Amino acid sequence: MKTLKDFNFENKKAIIRVDFNVPLNDAFEVTDITRIQAAKATIIDILEQGGSCVLMSHLGRPDGFQEAFSLKHIVKSVTDIMGCKVHFVEDCIGSKATAAVAALQPGEILLLENLRYYKEETKGDVAFAEQLSKFGDIYVNDAFGTAHRAHASTTIIAQFFEENKCFGNLLAREIESIDKVLNTSEKPVLAILGGAKVSSKITVIENILDKVDHLIIGGGMSFTFIKAQGGKIGNSICEDDKQELALEILKQAAAKGVQVHIPVDVVAADDFSNDANTQICDINAIPDGWEGVDAGPKSRENFDAVVNQCKTILWNGPLGVFEMESFAAGTIALGHSIDKATKNGAFSLVGGGDSVAAVKQFGFANKVSYVSTGGGAMLEMLEGKTLPGIDAILK
Ligand code: AMP
Repeated sequence: MKTLKDFNFENKKAIIRVDFNVPLNDAFEVTDITRIQAAKATIIDILEQGGSCVLMSHLGRPDGFQEAFSLKHIVKSVTDIMGCKVHFVEDCIGSKATAAVAALQPGEILLLENLRYYKEETKGDVAFAEQLSKFGDIYVNDAFGTAHRAHASTTIIAQFFEENKCFGNLLAREIESIDKVLNTSEKPVLAILGGAKVSSKITVIENILDKVDHLIIGGGMSFTFIKAQGGKIGNSICEDDKQELALEILKQAAAKGVQVHIPVDVVAADDFSNDANTQICDINAIPDGWEGVDAGPKSRENFDAVVNQCKTILWNGPLGVFEMESFAAGTIALGHSIDKATKNGAFSLVGGGDSVAAVKQFGFANKVSYVSTGGGAMLEMLEGKTLPGIDAILK
């Protein structure tokens, strides 16, 4: 796996795919700088060696040139985070971009305009990728969030750099962390899958059954399993057409010696709102008119015991409707359990959009071993797929 360490960037231009797809408010200010910060290590490494950085990214889903999606809005944030001047050019290909790249000096950063102003980017257009490739001596991919897309800047461009291509520090760390969980993990290994639906995680579950010793199934998707086993789930969310699949998963897990843990009790609500009436009930006996919205106290205790006997922990998906304060306690309790296990030496990886939002919101981001920056990309890796953006560098 080629990384920055394999190159000398002195007097070289690095063309770097970063993921600066950050949220902006109505005044076009960046409201979450995590992704920009995540790319800092790579950029500074290259600058300190006397190289220069040409940064390319997408922002949102523009339909052609739309000012609201301009990367000019983020220049100030990038400047503040990198601690040096950041040049910006209002196109990502063409004569203006070419001139700006030519003028770039060692130790300097140039940010190109939004790649997705051109539909060629998402189409993976070869000629567009070739134009981008002219802007660097070495191609660095540091955008995990788009590594599962075969876009021009994430994948196709790599073919124009036979040897001179590598992973940036962030992408390398993402790959290593997931590999640590899936392939080189210390046992016992635990996967915690929560969230709304069985259907969106089914391939992940099937792939990881070969890798884990324990599986916690929580959140909304646990009700499909409970109903399939004959439990009464009231108005809880359930995918009726996935009940057979749920039983099949339990069978496969048993055959592979994987211990499956499902909540035994729930916080049930009489309405899907933060100020609904609630009661604690057995997950098998939720009254009609009530729905399970969070893991109950016994389940939290059970999960705490499982988490604390494991040495490798993967967490994807919340245990309840954590966006509502009244239903967040189960997810917060799990965060505390993982924090404790991590302090005792376990490796813990959190990934997937909603669990990342949850660990950030509840202050666990610095307490787990690694928080992944890519939602879809991480799920695809957990499904056992080869991501095109990663493959293109390895080829
Ligand atoms: P996912 O994107 O599949 O990881 O699902 C995350 C979403 O699942 C979050 O928005 C949670 O609010 C939701 N969720 C978790 N538990 C439940 C539940 N018991 N009932 C309804 N939604 C849930």
